[in-house]
Amino acid sequence: MVEPPFQRLALIGVGLIGSSIARAARAQNAVRSIVATARSASTRRRVIELGIADRVVESNAAAVAGADLVILCIPVGQCGAVAQEIAAHLQPGAIVSDVGSVKGQIIRDMAPHLPPGVHFVPAHPVAGTEHSGPDAGFAELFIDRWCILTPPPGGDADAAERLSAFWRALGAKVATMSAEHHDLVLAITSHVPHLIAYTIVGTADDLSAVTRSEVLQYSAGGFRDFTRIAASDPTMWRDVFLANKAGVMEMLARFNQDLARLTRAIEEGDGVSLFDLFTRTRAIRRGIVDIGQDSPAPDFGRPHPGLPATPRPAVSDSE
Ligand code: NAP
Repeated sequence: MVEPPFQRLALIGVGLIGSSIARAARAQNAVRSIVATARSASTRRRVIELGIADRVVESNAAAVAGADLVILCIPVGQCGAVAQEIAAHLQPGAIVSDVGSVKGQIIRDMAPHLPPGVHFVPAHPVAGTEHSGPDAGFAELFIDRWCILTPPPGGDADAAERLSAFWRALGAKVATMSAEHHDLVLAITSHVPHLIAYTIVGTADDLSAVTRSEVLQYSAGGFRDFTRIAASDPTMWRDVFLANKAGVMEMLARFNQDLARLTRAIEEGDGVSLFDLFTRTRAIRRGIVDIGQDSPAPDFGRPHPGLPATPRPAVSDSE
């Protein structure tokens, strides 16, 4: 049997992402053993019941002792404090990484605490769902999804390559870029879309002219897909917007300009502008499907109900 690239993986946080890493690392033999921990006793208990780690320990410090790969799978706002907590317990030569959706702030929060001799390689698997907790994870989450590494300049290239190999073993495609660039790209591809979803679902909820039952009943007309995104974890997303203020503000400024242009086009009955934009955006959707980032199936691949088993009797013209 081939020796796994890492001996001991320490997972701090075993929610959607941490538990998916645990499941995938096991399935792909990417590590010899997994030690896991979480903040609450109830999550730690659940991880034991699920049997997705070899050992579950009670503290972050205990989790990292003897680990050659440590991955923080916790909300962005917690990473600095946890880095400080584990610093003195890290094994020399260990790789320390994370999965946070924002990179610049995490590097600013974590790097000052990490001792010389450990290698810090921040990462962001661009894969997820709107669910949270250890039950929400699954081994296939990262397959054919991107994992973006943002190694700080001057960092250990061999450590970055080893972490890259780990993510490839879990099925991900790996890209490397600066933290600043990551935060700008993700602001437009993920953070602002989530903000729009939170806004539109909130606005619909506030409308008194449209009752709540109508919003729910007719949600298939586009609103339903916003509600899925707006169901994402409140703690995670609060932290993302606090941590990526610069990237989000820059993209929101552009978005607001474009929204104002579109508002004007509707106001002025400028159908040409509307048609041109919608044609351009349809091509972008086709491009996403072409590169395998989404399903070409109608209604995003949702199962469609069958016709009634007994067809209705034909209606004749004379009736
Ligand atoms: P999640 O399901 O809510 O899980 C978070 C985990 O972190 C829980 O096990 C929680 O323990 C633990 N935790 C929180 N604070 C802790 C602390 N101080 N010490 C130890 N454990 C702590 O969250 P998630 O969706 O996996 O997200 C985790 C990270 O992944 C976030 O930084 C997020 O930005 C990033 N990410 C998320 C997605 C996504 O779609 N969800 C995608 C890519 C990246 P308890 O259960 O005991 O509170």
